[in-house]
Amino acid sequence: MRTLCGLLSLVLVTLTGAAMAEEAPPSRVLFRNVNVFNGVDAKLMTNHHVLVEGNRIVTVSANPIGSEGAEIIDGAGRTLMPGLIDGHAHVMINAHFDTVEKDMDLGDISIRSIRVAERFLMDGFTSVRDMGGPAFALARNIDNGRIIGPRIYPSGGFISQTSGHGDFRDRADPGFSQHDGGDLSNFERMGIGNVANGVPEVLKAVRLNLRNGATQIKIMAGGGGSSRFDPIDTTQFSTEEVCAAVEAAADWGTYVAAHVFTDRAVNRLLDCGVKTMEHGFFISEETMKRLAKEGAFVVPQMWGISPDLARNPLMPAAKIPMVKALGEQYADFGEKLLKHDVKVVFASDYVGVPEDAERARRYEIWWRTQKFGGNFEVLKQLTSTAGEMLALSGPRNPAKGKLGVVEEGALADLLLIDGNPLEDISVIGGTEQWFDADPEYRPIDTLVVIMKDGVIYKNTLR
Ligand SMILES: [Zn+2]
Repeated sequence: MRTLCGLLSLVLVTLTGAAMAEEAPPSRVLFRNVNVFNGVDAKLMTNHHVLVEGNRIVTVSANPIGSEGAEIIDGAGRTLMPGLIDGHAHVMINAHFDTVEKDMDLGDISIRSIRVAERFLMDGFTSVRDMGGPAFALARNIDNGRIIGPRIYPSGGFISQTSGHGDFRDRADPGFSQHDGGDLSNFERMGIGNVANGVPEVLKAVRLNLRNGATQIKIMAGGGGSSRFDPIDTTQFSTEEVCAAVEAAADWGTYVAAHVFTDRAVNRLLDCGVKTMEHGFFISEETMKRLAKEGAFVVPQMWGISPDLARNPLMPAAKIPMVKALGEQYADFGEKLLKHDVKVVFASDYVGVPEDAERARRYEIWWRTQKFGGNFEVLKQLTSTAGEMLALSGPRNPAKGKLGVVEEGALADLLLIDGNPLEDISVIGGTEQWFDADPEYRPIDTLVVIMKDGVIYKNTLR
């Protein structure tokens, strides 16, 4: 009994200490004289003032706000907007597929991911959903301040069936399946992917990712462009397997995202309650209607259907006619998604060396404005709609507040921009240059302040 009392008083002392520490006034930053793009409305709120306390936006007002103890940033008519969100990125697959599979280990991809993360943040991205790979240590070390980067939403290893989009073994690799005497691919060895067949193996793979800190689960539900043994029209994972993954994710309060292209596969995913469809280029308008009705998200990398893709110097010549034909056939994909009111989120989804991924990301920002009818729609995909999607992680969401909006109570992920992104997308880095862009990293000079979770990472006005 005495021991228990001693323990209780120790707990009380600790709690009191914590409470006292919390009483220290939070840091305050006041953005004065800014035009606000709030992530939701097509118009700027002109001549506003925005006060941040700690990691939250506490006041958004047309009237001047008292600035006691606050760091003052005079916007002088610049635009204040939410930090950008990339809904589908590959921070851990940071070299060409073949190089990662044959020539890299966990050390290589982890060291590179530090630079990937830093440049994401310096490009104004304050949250990034990673769609396959061991991004857990990266997320932890960003969150505890040892390195800088966006808030990372790790999926852990993407889960694929044998022969699926995540089965990266070579033709000569022996074994019926990796878990049955066959070799693991390097992707699997490093935790980038996870091959599972049948409900028990799928459950095991989902639970392993959740154990490690996944904020959502990524499955491969259909064929892909970059894998060798799964034609793009194929449907992957049975209904039982998909539903098992969704149930196991839901048991942890979160959801499943799926790599998918076709109607057959998307409808199976919807039957089981999958919430986000990655890519999705081949779906019909019927299926788009169902997606809209059920509130699912489509997260497409629009460069996948861009005519500029054929200019990729890494593209095998034999693939170019196919890439061009697909681009033409699905050129109105974006317009159709808008027509049917489907929720769309920005995706850079580039696999490759960091410099190439950066160029692709800036091109993607511009290219989307061409495919989704203008800047406002794309800015929503980069902010409020993406924030809504990230909130699907429920209790697994590392952000304890609203993302992608400038409003009272939301988390303070903010960018101050020289210019108006509703009129000129280049002020947040969008550019029509892709393979012809300078491969050297150039900071975006019009991005003058970058704040994540109330902390300023860039301020060229100081
Ligand atoms: Zn991807």
